[in-house]
Amino acid sequence: MGNSNRICINCGRKMKQQFIGLQHCNCGMSWKKDIGFFQRTPDMVFALQRVTVGKKVKLLPVIRRKQSTCNPVDDE
Ligand SMILES: [Zn+2]
Repeated sequence: MGNSNRICINCGRKMKQQFIGLQHCNCGMSWKKDIGFFQRTPDMVFALQRVTVGKKVKLLPVIRRKQSTCNPVDDE
């Protein structure tokens, strides 16, 4: 599996890989294999999800949205 870091379309710097198929740039752009470049927003949470492909189980990056509740919990 090649470690091919993308070049950010916004600022031209090399992006950093968080998971396979998911890369981030300091300027706020991210890249995901199936959707391409997108702008990160503060409510995005990146996680790995197990997906069964044929007989193999793969870990694929997924984007989740933080649930906004009436009592936001600061879990940092
Ligand atoms: Zn950038």
